[in-house]
Amino acid sequence: MTILLSTLNARYTHASLGLRYLLANMGELKNETRIQEFVIGAKTTEMVERILAYAPKIVGFGVYIWNVEETTKLVATLKRVAPHIVIMLGGPEVSHETNEQQIVQLADYVVTGWGDVTFPKLCGEILRGPKPLMKIHAGVQPPMADIALPYSIYSDDDIAHRTLYVEASRGCPFKCEFCLSALDKTAWPFNIDTFLAEMEALHARGARVFKFVDRTFNLNIKTSLKIMQFFLDKLAADPEDPVYVHFELVPDHLPDALKEGIAKFPPGALQFEIGIQSFNPTVQANISRKQDNDKAAANIRWLCEHSHVHMHVDLIAGLPGETVESFAEGFDKLWALGPHEIQFGILKRLRGTPIIRHTEAFGLVFDPHPPYTILANRDIDFLTMQRLVRFARYWDLVANSGRFTHVTPVLLGTSPFANFMAFADWLYANTDATHRIALDRLAALTGKYLRLQGVEDVDGLLASDGHGVKQKTAPVPSVAAPQRQARHLAA
Ligand code: SF4
Repeated sequence: MTILLSTLNARYTHASLGLRYLLANMGELKNETRIQEFVIGAKTTEMVERILAYAPKIVGFGVYIWNVEETTKLVATLKRVAPHIVIMLGGPEVSHETNEQQIVQLADYVVTGWGDVTFPKLCGEILRGPKPLMKIHAGVQPPMADIALPYSIYSDDDIAHRTLYVEASRGCPFKCEFCLSALDKTAWPFNIDTFLAEMEALHARGARVFKFVDRTFNLNIKTSLKIMQFFLDKLAADPEDPVYVHFELVPDHLPDALKEGIAKFPPGALQFEIGIQSFNPTVQANISRKQDNDKAAANIRWLCEHSHVHMHVDLIAGLPGETVESFAEGFDKLWALGPHEIQFGILKRLRGTPIIRHTEAFGLVFDPHPPYTILANRDIDFLTMQRLVRFARYWDLVANSGRFTHVTPVLLGTSPFANFMAFADWLYANTDATHRIALDRLAALTGKYLRLQGVEDVDGLLASDGHGVKQKTAPVPSVAAPQRQARHLAA
């Protein structure tokens, strides 16, 4: 075996689509190439041992914001014990600001951007010569039809136990300055019939959970409808063996034809991740995000009221020009629209994104270590940002988890942001922790807080969410949806 493709995934259930694309496009080197995935937190020396067991000549690592620190250690150790192995890097984290990164200094070659064509070409040159002269190679972007699709590389084990990532297009035409996709300037679709044939094959092999990584599923409505119809047909053919499909959408583009299709999906079959990021027009202008707020709000409301879609909507705190007050206003507005989950993100400075042009004017201070989270800005000082970070963590544990679906509205009352912030401050003061809070303890603390607020029949309220009673959780309906989403569904 000559070439090993490797990465550290955030979780075992996340199967790397990037590595599978590389393997699918290795051409004549495909038979000499293998994949070895790891999970964050694995012991460096044990990963090195596993890699050496393949006796590879080249190891290619996929480097992302969540694994760059551990991959750096892995590459450093690998270079110490086996300096003869050629190390190649690729992935978004090493595609920008390459020269200033320690991992790049340790590696032999780097492919920035798309690796489908350039990675196998470089491997061929390294193995057969002439050796590439440059260290950093800008990935060539081939016509989409020239890219071999990777879906047959998902193993039966992947299909049975892991999230299957799929994409009908790459890129995004929008330019939100905090986002790496802002550099794409456009989106490139794969041939839809070829793509759907691959989905058909995956479904026939038993795949039921499909996570689309397309940045904007609803760009081309004709294509969106075709994809939705594919899954509707699967649901109709065997309602007892349903599928679960996740798409990312822009919120202000939902024509009637799409709504009609969406409304046909039964509960537990569809999840949308919708980026609002900010409802503040000044902030939107600052970050070059074009969004019709009224349309976006109306569409989210429609989806919540007239469809069975599990709704996961994103907001970002810390954007240039966003104060705590304006963020709170947006948060309350979004909560009132009724999504199942609000993804409360804190701004991160992804390498290569244009958001840094605001650094001086808005006093943006980012953590220099991954994931480069904002620590303070002109409008939000460090201590307040820390409170927002804790709000986000507790929000996940309480509201987004689906374990407090009856408790949450009582906790939020008529001022959702302010009330949850007060709860988060109290919870932190009483636990000194944001992690490793067992569910029973969290429920007991939440009950204590509600009693302090004068809420009546707190035990009954907690019991309605399965706390303090024998059956700890509400029965989860039999759908293909992951557990958290299924809990929201059961509420
Ligand atoms: S945030 Fe979404 S819409 Fe904006 S550039 Fe990124 S992917 Fe595109």
